[in-house]
Amino acid sequence: MAERSSEVAVAGMTREEKVQDKIDEAELEKIINDSPGASEAIKQIKDGFKQFKTNEFDKFPDYYTKLAEGQSPKFLVFTCSDSRVCPSNILSFRPGEAFMARNIANLVPPFNQVRYSGVGAVIEYAVAELKVEIILVIGHSRCGGIKALMSLPEDGTTSYDFIHDWVKIGLPAKAKVKAEFGNLSDEEQRAICERESVNLSLENLLTYPYVRDGLANKTLLLMGGYYDFVKGTFSLWGHNFGIKPFIFV
Ligand SMILES: [Zn+2]
Repeated sequence: MAERSSEVAVAGMTREEKVQDKIDEAELEKIINDSPGASEAIKQIKDGFKQFKTNEFDKFPDYYTKLAEGQSPKFLVFTCSDSRVCPSNILSFRPGEAFMARNIANLVPPFNQVRYSGVGAVIEYAVAELKVEIILVIGHSRCGGIKALMSLPEDGTTSYDFIHDWVKIGLPAKAKVKAEFGNLSDEEQRAICERESVNLSLENLLTYPYVRDGLANKTLLLMGGYYDFVKGTFSLWGHNFGIKPFIFV
């Protein structure tokens, strides 16, 4: 069965590719047999890639040939790891347009070579090497990370290995919301903090020397954004926080 489908799939390939393809088929069979449920996931991945390849990669050969030579993205985008807020989906970025960093609650920590080298490497590479023009930090509605931040146990206890320690980056935003909007409901405070934490991340970006250089040389812009997936709206504002955000419905 597997061999037959493999033979169909390898039509038109070079000998080397045929060998590779047969190995992959055997590996796939093994995974499917060993892991119930893998079959459906593998089908989703194969179909998903096929759709991209047909509708994008094969349709625009000039674009992807040029892109293979090197990337020159205009944006560095920070978004939450939440599965509902992928920038490629909600802002329709094509491959090559946005360098991305995703983490719990879309937080940018302050410059710290020991604690946050992963995020630092992304910022350094995007700004100093790729010369992105815009850093966009996007918050979102009903963010579980912000909920964790707003409900951090006062006594410092935690049942998590990483989550609470990570969201503590947002403590200054939480303190500001508690001080200014402590009279509002928990839900309203969380919604405000989802935006305020974006502002904190924009401030934290200023602790990276390449970001400061880019701003001083006017080669870099910092922007905040907020995607509300309940209402289906996106708002955008500059690092100059006094400006009323543009709202795209
Ligand atoms: Zn989130």
